[in-house]
Amino acid sequence: MGINLLKKCFKKSNEKSYLFISLKDCIACGYCAEACRRDVLSIYWESGSPCAVIEHPERCSGCGKCVQACVFSAIEIIKK
Ligand code: SF4
Ligand code: SF4
Repeated sequence: MGINLLKKCFKKSNEKSYLFISLKDCIACGYCAEACRRDVLSIYWESGSPCAVIEHPERCSGCGKCVQACVFSAIEIIKK
């Protein structure tokens, strides 16, 4: 699973937003994946350590439930 999958684009209305997961802050607890009802996120091993990845960005609605679920502030929605 490539590291570039950590940052993917989704469109909501007319704005372009990105989900971003910080490898530095993610401890792979899986709370974000549990909170997502669209099965967008998964936990994978990357560069020798586990972390959350955005496996199905096309399913993301931008609801923000994963952001709320992460107590480590490792996932965020960046609006462009
Ligand atoms: S909830 Fe946060 S720390 Fe836990 S797997 Fe998701 S992004 Fe990583
Ligand atoms: S913003 Fe919502 S739909 Fe997108 S990954 Fe997070 S919980 Fe899932």
